[in-house]
Amino acid sequence: MNETPPRVRAEIDLAAVRANVRALRARAPRAALMAVVKADAYGHGMVPCARAAQQAGAAWLGTATPQEALALRAADVGGPVMCWLWTPGGPWREAVEADVDVSVSGMWALREVVAAARAAGRTARIQLKADTGLGRNGCQPADWPELVQHARAAEAEGAVRVTGLWSHFACADEPGHPSIAAQLAVFQELVAYAEKEGVDPEVRHIANSPATLTVPESHFDLVRPGIAVYGVSPSPELGTPAALGLRPAMSLIASVALVKRAPEGHGVSYGHHYVTPTETTLGLVPAGYADGIPRHASGRGPVLVGGKRRTVAGRVAMDQFVIDLGGDLLEPGAEAVLFGPGDRGEPTAEDWAQAADTIAYEIVTRIGSRVPRVYLNERPDERERGANGAAQ
Ligand SMILES: *Cc1c(COP(=O)(O)O)cnc(C)c1O
Repeated sequence: MNETPPRVRAEIDLAAVRANVRALRARAPRAALMAVVKADAYGHGMVPCARAAQQAGAAWLGTATPQEALALRAADVGGPVMCWLWTPGGPWREAVEADVDVSVSGMWALREVVAAARAAGRTARIQLKADTGLGRNGCQPADWPELVQHARAAEAEGAVRVTGLWSHFACADEPGHPSIAAQLAVFQELVAYAEKEGVDPEVRHIANSPATLTVPESHFDLVRPGIAVYGVSPSPELGTPAALGLRPAMSLIASVALVKRAPEGHGVSYGHHYVTPTETTLGLVPAGYADGIPRHASGRGPVLVGGKRRTVAGRVAMDQFVIDLGGDLLEPGAEAVLFGPGDRGEPTAEDWAQAADTIAYEIVTRIGSRVPRVYLNERPDERERGANGAAQ
């Protein structure tokens, strides 16, 4: 085995992914769970995370694009898979043949999936998506009767089966926001209308991570968490991962590339936005915005090096940034922990989000393809297998 430590690596603790899925299932005991693994499982690696989620009892997997869903099938991942972000001319036939549930938000999509099903000689599994107030994807309530009636006609013909009715929240990460109850009321009306027209769905679902954690009346038949599966809090208002019973799965660790002495008054990195206040030592961290380190965190991002929290000195460059080690002399190769679960004193993805004026979703999801993912705890141990209980 080649044990050369990588320049920078993202360690992914699959035991944390499994524990988070179990914790989320416990929060929604009457619903099944769809683990959302879009965007390469929020940067954590789609296929290993999908398998870990299934091992912990996730009945469904969700992706945004059909290409992501087909990549799961190409990797031999079985079980129900759904994808929802379609554009005209998309791979409908491939999805139908791969037994992937496809979301339909409007008449153009229904027409394309019906044509694909006829061409394939198969019944497509479709889920009708309603816009209950998010104002993004989904069918407007005014257009819902037309979509439902045409879907029913396609069902009668055998071209499709409506397996799901679903929607998505706008403000579930703001507990008590009036739009939550308003969207639930609209969802219930639209579901009732479709059922009155004869739709008999396997699953009705609207709950993302924050709703899974805080809005039990939104759970219906299926909850659809993404970020919480990876142990990241959906928002600071909801609490830390630990307060939510979650464990961050990703740790981003670099190997310090250079440590050197620098005199007082030395400009550091592009633009000289940092100037050494005294004679000091500087450490070079070989990770930059091409690796997903936000340039917005220049002068602010936190890093644990040599047992102490340090701060990015000056600009984050494409491939590297500098930290002021305050006179400490570390060996090159020392670990620089940008973020992790936090229990060794390292910063968290939430800390980086704050430093970069963004959300923790963006921090983990943007970790670049140049950063190898290193998987820990790939196999559940005995104790964990017991914890899965009835689900397995
Ligand atoms: C991304 C996404 C989710 C998961 O959202 P989280 O906030 O990460 O839990 C659920 N449903 C849809 C439609 C999504 O796009």
